[in-house]
Amino acid sequence: MAKKSTRKKPSAKKSSVRKALVKAAKGKAATKKPEAKQKKADAEAFAGTAKRWTPAQIEEAFRRFQAQEPEPKGELKHTNPFTLLVAVVLSAQATDAGVNRATPALFALADTPAKMAALGEDRIRDLIKTIGLFRMKAKNVALLARKLVDEFGGEVPRTREELITLPGAGRKTANVVLNMAFGQPTMAVDTHIFRIGNRTGLAPGKDPLAVELELEKVIPAKYMLHAHHWLILHGRYICIARKPHCERCIIADLCQWPGKTASGVTGFPPSRE
Ligand code: SF4
Repeated sequence: MAKKSTRKKPSAKKSSVRKALVKAAKGKAATKKPEAKQKKADAEAFAGTAKRWTPAQIEEAFRRFQAQEPEPKGELKHTNPFTLLVAVVLSAQATDAGVNRATPALFALADTPAKMAALGEDRIRDLIKTIGLFRMKAKNVALLARKLVDEFGGEVPRTREELITLPGAGRKTANVVLNMAFGQPTMAVDTHIFRIGNRTGLAPGKDPLAVELELEKVIPAKYMLHAHHWLILHGRYICIARKPHCERCIIADLCQWPGKTASGVTGFPPSRE
């Protein structure tokens, strides 16, 4: 007589959990949502309707970002505060990769305000002509280098008030420089952070300044130094504008976006590849 198996059959509930995990591991955990539905969800979120996060949810989100990447880095190539400032000015409406292709040759010739001022607008324009808006940017870089020499002793200033007086440098540029070059806990809101703040309900705001001030208010101080990079990287690689990768998102369960396509932590900490 055949021996009866003593192994218990998994309950229906357990087997559906297992199936969900297998799906998640294969990156197939996302439910499909038509693009039109996601666009509608974005329109609602940008109108400020997303449910706000609790302090505990915010703490949990940044705890996960930190666990995934304890020391996040910006992607613009630079060698000192001045070259960082120039790279950020050049990155307006351009990709970091595009800026990084042009700047090594520029910085090899001029990595200080004095050298850049001496190089002059025409040479700068030649060296950065692969970057969008290069004419205006060459003019600004030449002028800001001259201003640093004439009014700031050839040094990059360490306050936002001073930085925004430089040609081509606005509040976002100043915040990036203060954060990356001088270790100040500033929040530079670019298109990615603006989208995340509104879409997820973390920090809704009608313009970048409103989102910046809200993020400064809600993010615990211990996370502020790196928060800017974590959010930018999240927006650049996971919570992208069209068809975000919710199935690989480590804050999917916290996100309040009605258009999201997954609602759990799948394989934390996942890679951004
Ligand atoms: S679940 Fe994640 S990727 Fe999807 S919308 Fe929310 S934050 Fe963005």
